Amino acid sequence: IKTIGVLTSGGDAPGMNAAIRAVVRRGLSRGINMKGVLKGYNGLLNEEIIDLTAVDVSDTIQRGGTILYTARCAEFRTEEGQRRGAEVCKKHGIDGLVVIGGDGSFAGAQKLANLGINAVGVPGTIDLDIACTEYTIGFDTAVNTAMEAIDKVRDTSTSHERVSIIEVMGRNAGYLALWCGIANGAEDVLLPEKYDYDEQQIINNIIDNRKKGKKHHIIINAEGIGHSEAMAKRIEAATGIETRATILGHMQRGGSPTCKDRVYASIMGAKAVDVLLEGKTKRVIGYKNGEYVDFDINEALAMKKTIPDYQYEISYSLSHNYSKNV
Ligand code: ATP
Repeated sequence: IKTIGVLTSGGDAPGMNAAIRAVVRRGLSRGINMKGVLKGYNGLLNEEIIDLTAVDVSDTIQRGGTILYTARCAEFRTEEGQRRGAEVCKKHGIDGLVVIGGDGSFAGAQKLANLGINAVGVPGTIDLDIACTEYTIGFDTAVNTAMEAIDKVRDTSTSHERVSIIEVMGRNAGYLALWCGIANGAEDVLLPEKYDYDEQQIINNIIDNRKKGKKHHIIINAEGIGHSEAMAKRIEAATGIETRATILGHMQRGGSPTCKDRVYASIMGAKAVDVLLEGKTKRVIGYKNGEYVDFDINEALAMKKTIPDYQYEISYSLSHNYSKNV
């Protein structure tokens, strides 16, 4: 391998820059030419490819977003797009490509690998929804950002004795919501994995809690459930208690990465280069049982991940089990 490319794809995540920096510097330290592909698979198809030096990635480890920009690219889902992508890699002498992104981006990497471009996936998404890994770059920053925002909403919600529905991101996965549920001590946590929640039960809880003198009621609602505004209207109508919805939105994707995100990103990025230089093909980097590991990309994409029931049960029990003993 003489030249390695790196791109970021899908939703951006804090720590992506730390991963890019690690990829570039690890590669340069091994005598490899490093190239950056701008704007994900879109930039690949448009040949937006730049040389990267050690200086180009300096002063980036602490910055949110991605210096390579990111995009979603419908054309790359087609065979024709994938074939052209592989041709562009060959034309620019890219023998190995590090793809930092989520499952969708890995599916693109898998297609490129099948066409002879050795691609390695690095898990970068705030959603934590990649089955082969217990950790994804960006989750820690995003969950801390959401937690702090929810604390702030809670202050004003308590002062006004309101019910608050706070919608957090996560697409179809409920990890961010579950973690906030526990970290913020929410009364209710609604997860897409547990879609059959009982709204009447929530309404009954709110009324009961109010009778006991509780001044606030925090409901964390996952993006995958959504409809927070409509839910707030229904709950207000049923309880007679002022209910507000706050949708945290993209603020959760920004900001300086936490220490954890920087460290995981640095190690995962460097490992992706090591895996390529070891001559391994079609790999995805992950973190499992306390170790940084790599998996076959096909196996990684076939893995399934489920929300941990035990943690979900605890999030509920810590907010509801005191009623008999107060
Ligand atoms: P996140 O979930 O954090 O947004 P992601 O990588 O899963 O990250 P997607 O939008 O699903 O985000 O995928 C990013 C890009 O990867 C897509 O825009 C597309 O270009 C490419 N991609 C996704 N799925 C496939 C596929 N099955 N085959 C080829 N390319 C794909």
